[in-house]
Amino acid sequence: MHNFSSDTTLFWMRRDLRLFDNHGLYRALKDRGKVLVLFIFDKNILDELEDEEDKRLLFIHQELEKINKELQKHGSSLISYYGYPEDFFQGIDVKAVYTNHDYEPYAIERDQKIKDKFVYRGIAFHSFKDQVVFEKDEIVKDNGEPYSVFTPYSRKWLEAFRNSEMEFFPSEDFNDSYAQIEAQKLIPLEEMGFKNFNFEFPDRTVDKNLLKDYNSKRNLPAEKGTSRLSIHFRFGTISIRKMTQLADQYSTTWLNELIWRNFYMVILWHHPYIVDQSFKPAYDKIKWRNNESEFKAWCEGKTGYPIVDAGMRQLNQSGYMHNRVRMITASFLTKHLLIDWRWGEAYFAKKLMDYELASNNGGWQWASGSGCDAAPYFRVFNPELQTKKFDPDMKYIKKWIPEFESNAYPKPIVEHKMARERALDTYKSALNS
Ligand code: FAD
Repeated sequence: MHNFSSDTTLFWMRRDLRLFDNHGLYRALKDRGKVLVLFIFDKNILDELEDEEDKRLLFIHQELEKINKELQKHGSSLISYYGYPEDFFQGIDVKAVYTNHDYEPYAIERDQKIKDKFVYRGIAFHSFKDQVVFEKDEIVKDNGEPYSVFTPYSRKWLEAFRNSEMEFFPSEDFNDSYAQIEAQKLIPLEEMGFKNFNFEFPDRTVDKNLLKDYNSKRNLPAEKGTSRLSIHFRFGTISIRKMTQLADQYSTTWLNELIWRNFYMVILWHHPYIVDQSFKPAYDKIKWRNNESEFKAWCEGKTGYPIVDAGMRQLNQSGYMHNRVRMITASFLTKHLLIDWRWGEAYFAKKLMDYELASNNGGWQWASGSGCDAAPYFRVFNPELQTKKFDPDMKYIKKWIPEFESNAYPKPIVEHKMARERALDTYKSALNS
């Protein structure tokens, strides 16, 4: 491991993988100097990953390679460590540690423990808002309570946004303030039990014309009507502040989606119990059928409902699924099949390259009806009508289901009308009990 000197300041990078407009990094470079950038491949997280060809990890690794090269241009280098964060920090002697806030329950607990230890040793530990425009209690009701409904939250969010000037944090202007060290090698994926493989990730730029047409095209899964920036938002390879500014210029609908992202992160921060419980407790009384073979058919894209199957196959093959189809597949699982939203959420978490706890949980609880501002339980998406509306030429379906319209394509595993009524009865009896 690298030998640290006690006049070094560490910047601990997590889901903010960029050297520009990075709030915590900016503060470290500007206020302290002699900054070393650190990334920890956290065993607590990596040990949970089942696939040795994990796209998220590959993405992180590729981005860190770029960052390491960039740092080397400035006479510095990225420090990487594979293990438990607490173990890493135990043995080091530095002047200060800087980082950016992370709002997930695991991260909050981890950061608190580490901070306490540093403070005990007389080492400063500073963390900053970077992932969202407004965090924690910044946007609350007039009585100080957090919002749980999106529309009034977004109104207040926009009001606050309009009434303040966006502050940027040009960390890229302080390239002379990195600690000068010899080039370090990034820990190879293989040393952590994973594989390197070829995969093309979505671009990190967004076309202004796409944003201008976003409102009319965003619900059409066959079109490239959405930005595909989700993996970049997830890992902070783009700046939320710059993207919000762009959204403000070109598309209020797109800006609204960025507010949803912000909203779900704040909901999770205020209500960490939602990680494994329904936001609305009554929904935990639902008697899920949880039929394993139907779940398997859903996972594999073999339910006999083309729009559902196309979505699941897009997810399995590409690690991505269009938002409209995420809503349809999630509704189908929780309503048509009456399978616990937590099963679907966990499957998405395994497969989505943009997997993000707050938005995934928010999306699933929205679809199942149990969420803070969810679809009412009696709204059961009709896959056929959704297809007519959003994939009228079945271009998306045909793209992902090559055997569509042949005998090889499975018959529906459940009948729509019966399933709809069964869902309504089951939900009603849970909610009225
Ligand atoms: P765009 O339409 O271009 O939107 C721009 C950005 O806004 C997205 O990249 C994302 O950061 C944010 N955003 C857009 N829609 C939403 C939304 N409904 N909720 C929160 N943020 C949003 N998004 C994730 O990032 N990670 C997830 O794990 C995730 N799981 C989901 C699960 C379900 C069941 C549902 C219904 C939605 C989920 N979403 C999730 C939200 C949404 O589907 C994706 O953010 C979007 O499809 C990503 O594509 P895009 O980058 O082209 O989005």
